[in-house]
Amino acid sequence: MSEQTQNQAPVPQAGRHVVIVGAGMAGVQTAVALREQGFTGAVTLIGAEPHQPYDRPPLSKAVLLGKAEGSAFDVDFEALDITLELGREVTGVRPAEHTLDTATGPARYDVLVLATGAEPIRLPGTEDIPGVHLLRTLDDAERLRPVLAAQRDIVVVGAGWIGAEFATAAREAGCAVTVVEAAERPLAGALPEEVAAPMAAWYADAGAELRTHARVEHVEPGAVLLDDGTRVPAGAVVVGIGARPATGWLTGSGITLGAHREVVADDRLRTSEPDVYAVGDCSSFPSGRYGERLMVHHWDNALQGPRTVAANIIGESPATYDPVPYFWSEQFGRFVQYAGHHAAADTTVWRGDPQGASWSVCWLRESRLVGVLAVGRPRDLAQGRKLIESGVPLDPQVISDPTRPLKAAVG
Ligand SMILES: Cc1cc2nc3c(=O)[nH]c(=O)nc-3n(C[C@H](O)[C@H](O)[C@H](O)COP(=O)(O)OP(=O)(O)OC[C@H]3O[C@@H](n4cnc5c(N)ncnc54)[C@H](O)[C@@H]3O)c2cc1C
Repeated sequence: MSEQTQNQAPVPQAGRHVVIVGAGMAGVQTAVALREQGFTGAVTLIGAEPHQPYDRPPLSKAVLLGKAEGSAFDVDFEALDITLELGREVTGVRPAEHTLDTATGPARYDVLVLATGAEPIRLPGTEDIPGVHLLRTLDDAERLRPVLAAQRDIVVVGAGWIGAEFATAAREAGCAVTVVEAAERPLAGALPEEVAAPMAAWYADAGAELRTHARVEHVEPGAVLLDDGTRVPAGAVVVGIGARPATGWLTGSGITLGAHREVVADDRLRTSEPDVYAVGDCSSFPSGRYGERLMVHHWDNALQGPRTVAANIIGESPATYDPVPYFWSEQFGRFVQYAGHHAAADTTVWRGDPQGASWSVCWLRESRLVGVLAVGRPRDLAQGRKLIESGVPLDPQVISDPTRPLKAAVG
């Protein structure tokens, strides 16, 4: 991305002030990585939420069920000399002046890191209806805990990753659960039909009703009305229809945003403006490995990207970012993991019976592994991830034999 700004002139780091906006996984990890990599300048982490920075994956799992009180990161910010400014929303940025605008006045930076994550998409018209919930923040999870504890009848809108995880927790809590999904199957945007189809049965096995081809027409207190006229009683409604980058505050800043309103970063995670980086759910980057721009809304990306940002801020050993994306999901008693990135044209090779408890799917491009989905087969995932990284040609015959380790497919 030659048009991206190349302002990497070494400046004595002790005099520099790095300000990170967004105190979620990517923001916290950037601050920590700066210190781990020896940055001696000032580091300030500004977050809109009032809570001590916390991890999101437990929100749809242990926190929701009350098995964990919270999920605060185990980071000693004081010992690392990281200044935390919580409960402070940043409302704008003026890159030419190296200045942020916030609810409590302007703030200067030498280097800025954008890590504002994503915000859940709301179901239009439901904003003010009582009993309609989202699941993104600790506050959301805390609002939902008593709903589960009271074993209310719940309608989940959207059979994606969050919808499936929430439905799992709600069933475990003893709630009656109906999941309404506009597409013809779960995870329609994420996985091909033949792979997602076996997952539909998981809902029924767990005692949740999955209604596909079902569009929400209207939500009213106590019920969800579908476009086929069905009225589904709902003690609570949980909307899980996706998330979009939290970048509204960048409008007018001159920082380039992409088609999904994400911050467009280059392969060193620099934005279009000097001294401004972007990382995590709020951004996209060009993947050299996959030959396309990726916007990854998963935890591992918010863990790995910050190391690249920190290295490039310090500037002694500049780094490019070209990960094999990875994520996991815990749903209906199954551990689902995915590594890589595949396209419709890639060759699908099954390992095991998708009706069974554990199976995997591999995607090959010119005999090389580009993606692997593992259900209850963590070893396939671990080996597959390495095989994707190495890019060695594989024997599809061996891959299709689930009794043999995936790594045995190396020719
Ligand atoms: C319920 C749930 C479960 C998940 N489970 C999994 C899982 O099992 N596996 C997996 O791989 N991924 C999972 N994810 C995704 C993963 O948590 C995210 O990819 C990760 O949190 C992204 O980190 P981030 O720091 O980029 O963004 P976020 O975690 O969204 O953090 C961004 C922070 O920036 C703050 N902010 C936003 N705007 C401003 C502003 N203008 N000023 C100041 N602060 C601002 C926000 O308040 C937020 O705290 C889950 C996500 C959720 C919501």
